[in-house]
Amino acid sequence: MTLDRRHFLAGAAGASASLLAGCAAPASTLLPPLVGMPTQTLLPKGASPRIVVVGGGWGGLTVAKQLRLLAPQAEVVMLERNPVFFSCPLSNKWLIDVVDTSFLTHDYLRVSERHGYRFVQGEVLEVDRATRRVVTTQGQLDYDYLVIAAGIRYNYEALVRQRPPRRRCHQGALPGRLRAQCRTLRAQARAARLQGRRLGDEPAAAAAALPAQPYERACLVARHFKTNKIKGRVTILDHKPRIAPIGVGFKAAFEELYKDYITYVPNAQVQEVDPFNKRIKTSAGDMRFDHAVLMAPHRAADIAWKAGTVGTGADGKPSGWADVEPRRLHLRNDDRVYVIGDAVGAVSPTFRFYPKSGHVANSHGHIVAGYIAQRLAGKEPELKLPDNLCYMLVNGSPREAISVQFDYTVNAQGVIEQQQIDDNDRRAELVSENFRWAGLKFEDMLA
Ligand SMILES: Cc1cc2nc3c(=O)[nH]c(=O)nc-3n(C[C@H](O)[C@H](O)[C@H](O)COP(=O)(O)OP(=O)(O)OC[C@H]3O[C@@H](n4cnc5c(N)ncnc54)[C@H](O)[C@@H]3O)c2cc1C
Repeated sequence: MTLDRRHFLAGAAGASASLLAGCAAPASTLLPPLVGMPTQTLLPKGASPRIVVVGGGWGGLTVAKQLRLLAPQAEVVMLERNPVFFSCPLSNKWLIDVVDTSFLTHDYLRVSERHGYRFVQGEVLEVDRATRRVVTTQGQLDYDYLVIAAGIRYNYEALVRQRPPRRRCHQGALPGRLRAQCRTLRAQARAARLQGRRLGDEPAAAAAALPAQPYERACLVARHFKTNKIKGRVTILDHKPRIAPIGVGFKAAFEELYKDYITYVPNAQVQEVDPFNKRIKTSAGDMRFDHAVLMAPHRAADIAWKAGTVGTGADGKPSGWADVEPRRLHLRNDDRVYVIGDAVGAVSPTFRFYPKSGHVANSHGHIVAGYIAQRLAGKEPELKLPDNLCYMLVNGSPREAISVQFDYTVNAQGVIEQQQIDDNDRRAELVSENFRWAGLKFEDMLA
């Protein structure tokens, strides 16, 4: 093992402590910056209201475009660290060549010019909510409203004591890194190096990016093995007692299509991963693997922590997610800062989190653009709820999918309630619907 575990853990503890403390970290724990924070103004602020959007994923792209449509008097600036957009939704299909790269990749500059908002490529380093200012690698920017659409980060620390080296256990769930990681997975699958065991464990199902996608990925890798007559087996280690959502549909796919290629192990909480000796210890037993995909739990992106948006759970510890007013989606303690998409925290005592999906992030983008536009017009926002619809490709020949839909209502006590509708009946029609859905969403965000 090349990493010194003691140093690693000490470093990790220090890092998370300063994250948790946000701006309030004691000066002695802060390392002197190598390069000072950019102090120059990125764009001088004019008379028109300015809305700054952090993140150009599914939520950020939607809210930026909708703001220009609904509040044309406002200046909209979208800040994103990546130069191009690469969609996570449909990327599993890209892994096995059902869609090509150009379908998923889009140029931010071209899209922003088309809709009249400003795209700045850069990292957002800090948010000073007291002065309504964000600090980026390109300079500082004042805002009237801030929309944080920064997605997630992996939380390996919650899963195993030591984060496995990225190049050995790809997860492929972050835009930016996704493409490179999926490219590696794709190459490994093609070169048949995925023979043997592959692992998917997703302990924070309720708050993980699209809880069904690891099962879809397992099906598509198994399909690759089957089609190419590779003697490989995908072992899914699931901390949950059963597959969910769309459990009946996935179970049928595993048993009927991939009996010789997929083993599903429920109640398998990962305890330790040794990527060097290729061994894994779980509550359901120990095993070895040839290649592992470690689906660590997620939490809100770092910038959501730095901006002080992360709330506190019932145990008094950071909840990991932005503490928003459930129906208004702005922070409980700052109505000038909205959070949308994956970074949003619990919104209901019954189902807790909206699914972490592109569909919800896109819905949130529409809703929050409407709220801000109405506030700029001096009106009380008309409150709305998102919906969700996801398709999972489970068979490649013939192409067949299953799907899950979530609808939301507010009960008499003002609590948001969720209705989940699983469509377990795998069929080709759902694949066509999936592509129709993707076409409409891409058009809504990008065209
Ligand atoms: C493999 C896979 C398949 C999926 N399939 C589906 C599907 O079929 N349907 C579906 O609805 N959902 C799907 N999802 C889930 C979906 O991708 C996410 O829920 C969605 O992208 C969340 O949108 P978001 O805007 O909140 O965050 P993201 O889309 O993750 O965007 C966040 C953006 O913020 C940027 N950012 C973060 N911090 C900073 C910073 N400090 N400075 C500058 N930029 C920053 C990031 O670079 C990123 O581009 C899938 C996810 C994965 C991983």
